[in-house]
Amino acid sequence: MRFRYGLRLAGIVFALAVMSAGPVQAASAGPGSGMTGWSGGTIVGPGMTFDTSGVEAVPAGQDIVGAVEKYSYDEMITDLKQLKLRYGDLLTINIVGTSLDGRYLCEAVVGNQESGKNVMIQGGIHGREYMTPLLIMKQLEMALSQYSTGNYQGTGYAAMFQQGAIHFLPMVNPDGVSISQYGLSAIRSPGLRSIVEEAYRQDLASGRTSMPIERYLNYWKANGRGVDLNGNFDAGWDRVYDVGYPSYSSYKGTAPCSEPESMALFNLANKYPWSAVVNYHSMGEVVYWDFEGNQVEAQSNELADLAIGITGYRKLESSGAGGYKDWLQIKENPVPSITIEVGSVACPMPVSEWDNVWTKNQNIWAAMLHYAVTH
Ligand SMILES: [Zn+2]
Repeated sequence: MRFRYGLRLAGIVFALAVMSAGPVQAASAGPGSGMTGWSGGTIVGPGMTFDTSGVEAVPAGQDIVGAVEKYSYDEMITDLKQLKLRYGDLLTINIVGTSLDGRYLCEAVVGNQESGKNVMIQGGIHGREYMTPLLIMKQLEMALSQYSTGNYQGTGYAAMFQQGAIHFLPMVNPDGVSISQYGLSAIRSPGLRSIVEEAYRQDLASGRTSMPIERYLNYWKANGRGVDLNGNFDAGWDRVYDVGYPSYSSYKGTAPCSEPESMALFNLANKYPWSAVVNYHSMGEVVYWDFEGNQVEAQSNELADLAIGITGYRKLESSGAGGYKDWLQIKENPVPSITIEVGSVACPMPVSEWDNVWTKNQNIWAAMLHYAVTH
């Protein structure tokens, strides 16, 4: 009897702990469970809905995505709604996961998803690198606004989109972006806020920072509970640099894909046949293309040369372990993949760097789509 009572009590305590964790609970049910499309005015996510009522259309001829100092999660969501209002059936928006603090991981798809030729462009996996969500949103707007008129080396965008599709994932780590931009007040879950505060205390104690907390948080790369998502993949796991506790950077987590955000990327990678994946990071103006055990070396190298031809960035073989690119290259059904590090100033990058980033990267999506439909 005592044994059974103990079990029941443990069950109740567990249930209470899960309930009090708030948005964290929604996320634990999330990964892979909510691949739901958005056909009309409503986006339906895992157990959540929101719609475009009350959103006033941006006047025709006016850009929707604007380069601002801190391009936020809320601005991205508003812009996605605006793009959907303007471009209708050309754009499909899916929610592919939910962050620990209850934000959507959005996928914006343009083109023929039945073609078997898919390109993924993802960014914002590191919080403070929030220039990359802006870049990907701007690329998405360019693809839509020039859909019927633009071309890449003489091949019309519309013709390419009939033979292939691009999946834009502008902000894979919305909690981390929000912490870097707006500090502790951006996090709604009290449980996550305590983890972030404890991370600061430990980093102070270990000498990894000496900054006041407000400034420390500007440099936040991790997700809402201090896991560096780009070290959270099963690629040379034992070699992944790891500080051993939740921190603003370089904590790999308890196991590969322990986080809902990395799990969403894992599921997406196995959902479609991918021709190419571009991982946007900042900074450094380099393209990483290789990893030990890369099963798609020739193709990854070709993607890198393509990106270098457009951006003028330097080409490097690999950096660290545990990254999404690294895992894509060595997994079963490997995917040709590159990492592009944009910008030449430290993160978080001021908007004054935007023109430099945009000029060098605006044609990357079209080049990748062209690669996909010609291979
Ligand atoms: Zn990064």
